[in-house]
Parts: sequence; structure tokens; C-alpha cells
Amino acid sequence: MLSKSHPRYESLVLREKIVKASKAGYLADSAMIAHGRGEAFDYLLGEKTTLPAKRAMYVTVAIMLLSKNPVISVNGNTVALAIDEVIEFAKSVNAKIEINLFYRSDERVDKITELFKNHGYPEILGSNDDEIEYINEIKNPRASASKNGIYTADTVLVPLEDGDRAEILARSGKNIITIDLNPLSRTSRMSDVSIVDNVVRSLPFMTKIAEDLKLQDKKLLLDIIEEYDNEENLKESLKLFKIDEE
Ligand code: ATP
Ligand code: MG
Repeated sequence: MLSKSHPRYESLVLREKIVKASKAGYLADSAMIAHGRGEAFDYLLGEKTTLPAKRAMYVTVAIMLLSKNPVISVNGNTVALAIDEVIEFAKSVNAKIEINLFYRSDERVDKITELFKNHGYPEILGSNDDEIEYINEIKNPRASASKNGIYTADTVLVPLEDGDRAEILARSGKNIITIDLNPLSRTSRMSDVSIVDNVVRSLPFMTKIAEDLKLQDKKLLLDIIEEYDNEENLKESLKLFKIDEE
């Protein structure tokens, strides 16, 4: 049992979730490595949501509320860490959710499909029964997408995406938004909006933002998007990493 007074309690809880998911058999072997990389970046951020991350989240919600077919892509790590938070956020901005595994296997997809059902979300896309197409007709598993989901989406939110797939998405002409703790990753650099934050903090935060922005005029949402500069925001995120003692 983890003690709540442990200084690394929250981080250890997330680690346990990843270990549990790995045992449940829906994570690829590399998932723990990806999580570890995320942990290291989060440590340097002080495990807090930064101002540039919040700014990127407002822009994300504004874009999603104005999109015709926004889709949230989920992989094993996102499911392990934040399945309910993903479902809630999707509902708040009227987005679809699609399973998108870098190392796709029917077994892992079935397990994740089942988990979404158990969490009250049977309409998950990207399941083994779904109709799959290839983005820009690129016959590569990295380009696969659900016909009614990412394939036809105008906006895709991809937490923890791998750089190879992010590149295909970035070239597709869709709005690509990522949540990635590493501001230097190819994914962060190639996206239109990069949220440098932990998925477990950013998804509930965006649900709250959505409650507010839903009540605002379209003009305000357009202004939020117009004023935003992702490159500048990424630079600001990078400056907040602590690499020397204060
Ligand atoms: P890229 O392929 O984009 O250059 P990478 O190879 O460093 O990046 P991957 O292993 O492909 O990264 O993907 C994992 C990414 O997800 C890492 O950048 C890591 O920092 C990030 N990450 C891991 N856990 C979390 C989390 N809980 N929240 C947000 N980001 C996370
Ligand atoms: Mg990678």
C-alpha cells in the first residue's frame, strides 16, 4: 500500500496504474519506457500545469468547439492513466474517441474496447469491427484511421503520440493537437497546438475550460485561436524546465 504522505505519492499512483495495465495485457512493452520518459519531464516541470500549457489548452478547447468532427485518439498509456477523464472531456466538447495503437494487435484493441464499454462508452471508434482507411492513402499501419473518426476528422487531439505517426497526421491538413510532456519531441514540434503537460492534469482541466467556453460567442473563440503562436508557446514551455537549483 502506498502512503499518501509519501512525497512522490501521486507519481507512484500513476506508475502503479501503468504496471496494472501492463499486467492486464493492453500495453505494448515500450509503454513503460514512454511513461518513464514522461515522468522525467514532469519532474523537471515540478509536476505542475504551467501557464503556456494552460494557454495551449484554451486554444485546444476553442478549436475543438468550432470543429465539425473533432476526434480524440487514445493509446494504451492514455487509457491506463485517464480513461474516465478522456470520456468526460470528449463529452464536454462533443468529440469522438478512437483507439489508435502504435503496436496494434487485435487482442489489445479488444481489451481497450471492452474497458471503454465497462466505463460507459460503447461507441468507441477504431475497434476491430470498425471500418479502417489510410490517411492520404499511405499504406502504412502508422496511417490507419477509422473512416468516421480520424480519417474524416478536421481536428485530432493525440495525447502521447509517436513522432512517426504525428508526422503523417501533420501532413494530412487536419488540425493536430498533442499533449506531450516533452517540448522537444518531434510530436510537439510538428503539431499545430502542443500542450506540454501530463494527460492526467490536462484532460480534466480542459473539461472545465469547455464548460466556460461553450457559453461564449464564436468570435471570442476565434480570437483565442488567432492570437496563439505555437512556436512561441513551446519556447516558453521549454524555459520553465528547471535544470539548476534555485
Ligand atoms: P517523438 O517520437 O515524438 O520524437 P519520443 O520518441 O521521445 O517522441 P515516444 O516514446 O514516441 O516519444 O512517446 C512518448 C512521449 O509521451 C514522450 O515524449 C513522453 O514525454 C510523453 N509522455 C509520457 N507519459 C506522459 C504523460 N502521462 N503525459 C504527457 N506526456 C507523456
Ligand atoms: Mg517516438
